[in-house]
Amino acid sequence: MTVSPQIAAYPLANDVGDAYWLPFTAMRQFRSNPMMFVGAEGMHYLTVDGRRVLDAMAGLWCVNAGHGQPRIVEAIREAAGRLDFVSSFKMSHPGAFELARRLTGIAPDGFDHVFFTNSGSEAVDSALKIARAYHRVRGDAGRTKLIGRAKGYHGMGFGGLSVGGIGRHKRDFGPLLPDVSHLSLPYDRASMGFSRGQPEAGAPYADELESLLQINDPMTVAAVIVEPVIGSGGVYPPPVNYLERLRAICSRHGILLIFDEVITGFGRLGRPFAAQALGVTPDIITCAKGMTNGAVPMGGVLIRDFVFDAFMAGPPEAIELFHGYTYSGHPLACAAGLATLDVYEELGLCGRTTAIAPVWEAALHSLKGEPHVADIRNIGLLGVVELSSRTAEAGARGSLCAQMCYEDGVLVRASGDLIVLSPPLVIEEEQIGQTVESIRSALHRMN
Ligand code: PMP
Repeated sequence: MTVSPQIAAYPLANDVGDAYWLPFTAMRQFRSNPMMFVGAEGMHYLTVDGRRVLDAMAGLWCVNAGHGQPRIVEAIREAAGRLDFVSSFKMSHPGAFELARRLTGIAPDGFDHVFFTNSGSEAVDSALKIARAYHRVRGDAGRTKLIGRAKGYHGMGFGGLSVGGIGRHKRDFGPLLPDVSHLSLPYDRASMGFSRGQPEAGAPYADELESLLQINDPMTVAAVIVEPVIGSGGVYPPPVNYLERLRAICSRHGILLIFDEVITGFGRLGRPFAAQALGVTPDIITCAKGMTNGAVPMGGVLIRDFVFDAFMAGPPEAIELFHGYTYSGHPLACAAGLATLDVYEELGLCGRTTAIAPVWEAALHSLKGEPHVADIRNIGLLGVVELSSRTAEAGARGSLCAQMCYEDGVLVRASGDLIVLSPPLVIEEEQIGQTVESIRSALHRMN
């Protein structure tokens, strides 16, 4: 891993100043102990002080093929020199069409259309707007309500925040969108704790949707949005038959079902999308992150034919969607996306994930019974180790554990007292062992 002399010489670790306001970061705490990286290669980051750290988070759930994939790097370089920018409003470039075609090729059957965005948040807000507009172009303008879920994370736009289910994220920013309801978390620690993969017998949780529809009148509901596996909210795999039942209820009432696959898309569950891995087909899928292996910001909305066709069959003014972003389908992002799909295919990432997931599961669950471990959940190459909270100091154990792992050479993510794990899908067995042993050692060293 080589780092340019200018970067290596920059006094980053000593004096970061306060010009840069970091997202989701306590600035004072960050400045006292800045976690700074200057390079990345494969499974590792290089820290500003020259240490190699194993990345057990794939950056932020996105670097699925590992860092610095040469083919992706080269594609971005080449694209930047060829066509730096072109608007996507009433014009385009071949790479965008090619990427759309490739994405629809790996999407579930019947998803033949893609709308490009630059992030997961934009993908979610676009999906919610498309859902409402779909009903309107069909002459069903009364369907405007949206239903999300407790602990759901759908990005930070006002739409995604409104359907999201993490209270702390909303506290300072209301009022949010009106006419939004939430399903509860389909999880019961007593009966489902330490489940491996999908918990059994959670389908009745989905019946709560019927109750919500009795309160709201199903004819006024536009869409239900869920992550197939709750990610940022704490890695909760769906109970067996839960998504199936949501699907059936939405279909019965003409409500669109949106899967937010910003984390689960691109192989994390061993298939390109969780919809395929879990065998449930929604009407709209949002994606981002792994779409470019994290190398260039990009997101997208995959749309089923009947939704797209409703717009195309509508009145002339419906054919133009009055929505989009300056950087939708950006040439660099499309080049990165195309190279990423090639790399995923060449590495056989889906098959690899399926093969190594049982090793991952067994390694994580070997932490059961260690000090402070309150629950462990996993599916595909996702996992969480939930620690019991110290009385009066919630989150302290999580951040201490993550700090200890970092000093030990492993990057995990603390979210409160959750140790969240989402490694690049190229992780080797031995690196799974290193990750889990680092957590185990930290748990034994803390009180
Ligand atoms: N949806 C889900 C399920 C996510 O996990 C995230 C990001 N963690 C988002 C949306 C938002 O994506 P972004 O941060 O790219 O806006």
